[in-house]
Amino acid sequence: MPTDRTIAVLSGKGGTGKTLVSVNLAFVAQHTTYIDCDVEEPNGHLFLKPSYVQEEVVTVGKPVVDQTLCDGCKICSKACAFNALAVIGGQLLIFEEICHSCGLCMHICPRKALTEVQKPLGIVRKGKSGSIAFLSAEMRIGESSAVPLIKALMKNKHSGLTIIDSPPGSGCLVTEAITHADFCLLVAEPTIFGAHNLAMVHELATLLGKPCAVLLNKTQQGANPSETYAKSHDLKILGSLPYDQELAHRTSEGLVASEQSEKYHQYFSQLLQEVEDASNPHSQR
Ligand code: SF4
Ligand code: SF4
Repeated sequence: MPTDRTIAVLSGKGGTGKTLVSVNLAFVAQHTTYIDCDVEEPNGHLFLKPSYVQEEVVTVGKPVVDQTLCDGCKICSKACAFNALAVIGGQLLIFEEICHSCGLCMHICPRKALTEVQKPLGIVRKGKSGSIAFLSAEMRIGESSAVPLIKALMKNKHSGLTIIDSPPGSGCLVTEAITHADFCLLVAEPTIFGAHNLAMVHELATLLGKPCAVLLNKTQQGANPSETYAKSHDLKILGSLPYDQELAHRTSEGLVASEQSEKYHQYFSQLLQEVEDASNPHSQR
């Protein structure tokens, strides 16, 4: 794998196999960095079982009001795009949980009644799992936006190969995570819903100008709408991972299949090679 290559593993919803694929790619690669960007429900640590060396609290700025200066003019509450401010009975109320820390209200208050205080947003954890550098983060319950946590995670990215275990879906967290990627591996289930989710992440990766390819997961005999979608949109299919009860069992036990089974070690080593080729614009394979 070339130096400084970052691969994001995506899926349109949770439970598709994104973490399974991410941790196995990291395991077979070794001497790599695995970043769990699923900050609302991180679970990469259940598989890679890192020994944590450091925890760091990430904070974000939130407004506080000096009621002696505020005259209840509503300029700030009308401007807040997230409805995090309201003037009731002449008093400004601040709903911190829905504040996105954009800073606008503090900037526009004509009476300088709003100031910024730093509040904890979550924790970034840095550790090692064998030769794999492990990074994850966990957002505090009730917070509105974890984008600063993902930015904090990415600041800790090392050189070399990085595997990003993206958040599920196609919202702003995924956008932030894949902004840092050179290539996106889209994991898709063999259902109509799976094809719909695949379309969402494919559109997002395309919009952001990220090269991508698909891994068909949990494949079985019969029609595969995700495969049909990929073929009809010239989306390269890098592989197919058949549904396997043994694999599902190992995963539910928090085991890394490629560590436990030679068959899966070979499978994910081959997939890593496919990802390398597909993500390398100069590859002849
Ligand atoms: S803009 Fe300033 S003065 Fe006006 S309601 Fe907001 S905090 Fe109060
Ligand atoms: S910082 Fe931004 S999101 Fe938060 S209350 Fe002020 S305007 Fe609204």
